[in-house]
Amino acid sequence: MNESWSPAPGRASAAAPVARLIEELHKLPGIGPKSAQRLAYHLLRATDEEARALAEAIVEVKERIHLCALCQNMTDIDPCALCSDESRDQTVICVVEEPLDILAIERTRAHHGLYHVLHGSISPMEGIGPEQLKVRELLQRLRDGKVTEVIMATNPNLEGEATSMYVSRLLQPLGVRVTRLARGLPMGGDLEYADDLTLARALENRQEL
Ligand SMILES: [Zn+2]
Repeated sequence: MNESWSPAPGRASAAAPVARLIEELHKLPGIGPKSAQRLAYHLLRATDEEARALAEAIVEVKERIHLCALCQNMTDIDPCALCSDESRDQTVICVVEEPLDILAIERTRAHHGLYHVLHGSISPMEGIGPEQLKVRELLQRLRDGKVTEVIMATNPNLEGEATSMYVSRLLQPLGVRVTRLARGLPMGGDLEYADDLTLARALENRQEL
């Protein structure tokens, strides 16, 4: 066992490997201490094959999934399936904060162009500046002049707005049309949770930035 790891107080009764599993599960988003315990004991009761399948799926995803050199989305092929799909409109790029936002926009079937994932938003509170985002990679993609429109589809909250404004200011000198999703998405929310119809409308009625 890793020497640097020590069980959290109050879990001394669980055997060290079990406590360690609980601790690791507890780090996952949305998993509180109680859920972590339940999951750990569920895994203990699972067959060896079931437990191994889960462990291997986690290892495989870490080994095989990387960022697409073009759009920065998670992929196991490079360029990713979306970037290499020639039936998609190569002149429009929709810029999103997270890979999950692509799924939300794809569900609407209202965007037929390409994507670009920034991997976050500008947040002075959390110390995230533009240099930590995949902005340079976006500028690189616009160099050859094939892209004529960039749709800023950042989250409808303060960080998303700030990111959108920052990127659009950078793009202005390139002569590319920059639009943003129409207002109407619930403020403060995540694109990921917007309903398909609202999101499709916001895309269709996008506005110049
Ligand atoms: Zn890609």
